[in-house]
Amino acid sequence: MKLTFLGAAREVTGSCFLVETEHCRFLVDCGMVQGDRQAIEKNRRAWPFDPKSIHFVLLTHAHIDHSGLLPRLAALGFRGTIHCTRATADLLEPLLLDSAHIQENEWIRAQRHSARGFAATLLYTVAQARDSLRLVRGRDYAIDFRPHPTVRVRFQDAGHILGSAAIEVWVSEGETTRKIVFSGDIGPKGRPIVRDPVPIAEADYVVVESTYGNREHRPYAATVEELTEVLSGALARGRGNVYVPAFALGRTQELLHLLIELTRAGRLPRLDVFVDSPLADKITAITWKHYDYLDDEARALLACRTCADEGIRLRFTQTPEESMSLNRIRSGALIIAASGMAEAGRIRHHLRHGLPYAGNAVVFVGYQGQGTLGRQLVDGAREVRLFQERIPVRASIHTINGLSAHADRAGLLDWLGHFRARPPRKVWVTHGEGDIALGFAQTIEERLGFAAHAPELGQSFLL
Ligand SMILES: [Zn+2]
Repeated sequence: MKLTFLGAAREVTGSCFLVETEHCRFLVDCGMVQGDRQAIEKNRRAWPFDPKSIHFVLLTHAHIDHSGLLPRLAALGFRGTIHCTRATADLLEPLLLDSAHIQENEWIRAQRHSARGFAATLLYTVAQARDSLRLVRGRDYAIDFRPHPTVRVRFQDAGHILGSAAIEVWVSEGETTRKIVFSGDIGPKGRPIVRDPVPIAEADYVVVESTYGNREHRPYAATVEELTEVLSGALARGRGNVYVPAFALGRTQELLHLLIELTRAGRLPRLDVFVDSPLADKITAITWKHYDYLDDEARALLACRTCADEGIRLRFTQTPEESMSLNRIRSGALIIAASGMAEAGRIRHHLRHGLPYAGNAVVFVGYQGQGTLGRQLVDGAREVRLFQERIPVRASIHTINGLSAHADRAGLLDWLGHFRARPPRKVWVTHGEGDIALGFAQTIEERLGFAAHAPELGQSFLL
């Protein structure tokens, strides 16, 4: 049998792994490359396989860098089943439709500006995204199923976002059975909303993410302190707004949870929070539905959506008009909007209005990929381009990494450490920028004694 790395190889997005035996071929994740300038071309470049020949897909979680090309796979002929957890199945609908909407809008706008080559941005339409959803089948955690007579699969909670899973896969070919574990994205332990990652004890091969394989996050308590300082500083001055680029799923819920706690404890002034995302309402409803998957702290957050008397006024804005009306607020507002790397979505409009004023603050709470607007700001750019305009950066820029939905180096080593009793034959390190993936492979060899390697894009291995 053969494993090929078709994405997230020495980069952080575009997760896609192909497993082939003499009996079947399947994908684990079918993610979109996001962020860098070649992203569109990388996404368009045909897979080195015919989508019709793929029997099924196993999906670790709903984030677009893991799921975003599923509609394209279906549009190009894939007719198998997409297996994922039940919560992921529900999340895919708003997320894939949103992704298609963004593409259609960009395409229309590009045509209006008749920019050369922009037509290429349309990877799939809303109708195609809707079609692909018919192939999705939700599964329970920790219960085995067979997507093919020669393959057995089990999803385990990865503690990253609602519905996220690490996947245990037993693949048989003739007399041989190999167990491969795909980590998906591993979350940190002890955090609100989602549960801790479930340890997995045995595998012949492990494919592990390494987003933060080179660093330890600040302790959670220190991160909360840092966030409190930044917010109270920016808002107490009364001279501006705070903008938080964050995706509608995951970090937004965690952030709201924290803000509610901090205002209740009197550590933040009365807060006017706007979640400027039509997706967020849908996702909150899905979160309610999958209450069983969440931890106790989620209860407090979900119950508090309407609790104006708690010192926090929380509003979800829906229409573009409501979104634009936020631009008239000059100070005292905390605006959370997608996307997390400020590459798309409503946050770009807010940044266009907010960046030129020194009283404003922009707070990044997630990973900023190379080449993204978020990364430029975090790296200290004095001027950025937004909507064909040069925008001076006078707002203060802050990064709070301790809120990441990804485990840090210690967390990843802890998760991998459970394989110690019978060390895997090989660990492949993916989903990290080049140096980080290579460095983490070395760390695994030194600390755990497992043979580890950071594969290159397109590289195949016989198992
Ligand atoms: Zn993810």
